[in-house]
Amino acid sequence: MSAPYYDWIAHHAVNRPEKVALIDLHAGLRLDYRALEDRVARFTGLLADRGVGRGDRVAILAQSCAEVFELQFACGRLGAIFVPLNWRLTQPELEFVIGNADPALLLYGEDFAETVEGLAIEGCAKLALDADFAKARAAARPRAPEPVMLDDVSTIIYTSGTTGRPKGALITHGMTFWNIVNLSGPALLNGDMVMLTVLPLFHTAGLNCYANPAFHAGGTVLLARGFDPGATLRMMSDRSIGITHFLGVPSHYQFMAQHPDFAAADLSGLVRAGCGGAPIPLSLLKQWEEKGVPLLQGFGMTETSPSVLSLDHADAASRIGSVGRPLQHLEARIVDEDGHDCADDEAGELWVRGPVVTPGYWRNPEASASAFRDGWFRTGDIARRNAEGYHYIVDRRTDMFISGGENVYPAEVENVLHQIEAVREAAVIGVPDARWGESGRAIVVVKPDHALKADAVLDHCRARLAKYKLPRDIVFAEALPRNATGKVLKAELRARYSGALPC
Ligand code: ATP
Ligand code: MG
Repeated sequence: MSAPYYDWIAHHAVNRPEKVALIDLHAGLRLDYRALEDRVARFTGLLADRGVGRGDRVAILAQSCAEVFELQFACGRLGAIFVPLNWRLTQPELEFVIGNADPALLLYGEDFAETVEGLAIEGCAKLALDADFAKARAAARPRAPEPVMLDDVSTIIYTSGTTGRPKGALITHGMTFWNIVNLSGPALLNGDMVMLTVLPLFHTAGLNCYANPAFHAGGTVLLARGFDPGATLRMMSDRSIGITHFLGVPSHYQFMAQHPDFAAADLSGLVRAGCGGAPIPLSLLKQWEEKGVPLLQGFGMTETSPSVLSLDHADAASRIGSVGRPLQHLEARIVDEDGHDCADDEAGELWVRGPVVTPGYWRNPEASASAFRDGWFRTGDIARRNAEGYHYIVDRRTDMFISGGENVYPAEVENVLHQIEAVREAAVIGVPDARWGESGRAIVVVKPDHALKADAVLDHCRARLAKYKLPRDIVFAEALPRNATGKVLKAELRARYSGALPC
């Protein structure tokens, strides 16, 4: 039997009304829990007056702002489904996602007016988040919450679209709740936390690591519109702001480490600097470690809302490179191609089961059916687990390639490439090779004011990698294509650079 969902903002508005809940840096807005509750209650009233009810999707196309979180809570109170849209998508991509979500109402930031105007979508009311909206919301009658259960769908989050078209993962209130329970120990969540959120709010990590947990705990969310390495270092060093929590993807940490202010930044106030979403080069982990900030790796995905594996603070230095062990309330297995459990240290696909796992994808029965096997969710990621239960993400199943009968995991080769001082970014893809079936091609971006020759890269790799893992050639590029969350788009690299190797 499902339990009821209780609204966190309403709770803290009674218990700690004057505590700062949300600071929207771009808007210059500072809301305590009492003020946030009032805005959410009136937002709920405004939505209900416009006919939004249980099960209706309400989409929002806006850069990070208070209204995104407020809409999330307002939808939750009506049993409606909150759909944060990736504003970095192109028009046809947005049309695909909105067409799939089929929302009753689309809210949009004023800077997206032209985009929304040009969208070929039908049957959906549109509402700008402008001055008229602010007036209408302030005048709306606060609406009391409907009874909503933990098993009810709260949100549809579209996956990052790294491996193909984004899929609308169904997120229930219960999944978000259990993610908070799972993170509370490892992420040291509490009502005094100040969470700096730079990740976009259309992504599961932007919402759930650790912004929603901060609201649940009665802490403070400091919301930045996007990531700026210098500004982030400055804010983290400023004791009057008191940032305790941060979560970034590897490229954020890389850009901060390469920033001129990194050496002098005082980061000792950080309690939890989490990192996830993509493989992080070992050299970068070590650089932050030397700065006195162990980056705590975690593994997660949209479909698990998101956290699955986490590396405890105490283990961060000794288990460098590991994404940790399964969180408390879920089960994880590593299985071979026949669905049998792998032995310790053997690479196989990571499967997950538990209350953080999605019930499936919205209006996508094929993806929903292929994602599950015997009640387990197949992550599509290859991992290894050692005898002590520490997990190491090897790579995505779809990025692996086979060279001369041996599996090659590009992430391992990329780690070796990142050790080269002059390398800013590097990615490896498998390309056709008449002799070996496939071989690796490395795409390398050199740091500004540095020089690097292909031979030097290959010599470095030869000394550190088995022969079948060696890239057969090196392509120098200006930048790597990345999606909105900073992940390298391997499919795009394959499309651009997959010409066969010379015999
Ligand atoms: P799509 O499913 O649309 O292709 P996506 O998988 O990138 O996109 P997300 O749900 O945002 O969408 O990302 C989850 C994926 O990110 C995981 O399946 C995994 O491949 C990768 N990932 C997450 N954390 C880590 C990590 N710590 N190390 C390596 N990879 C990670
Ligand atoms: Mg995925």
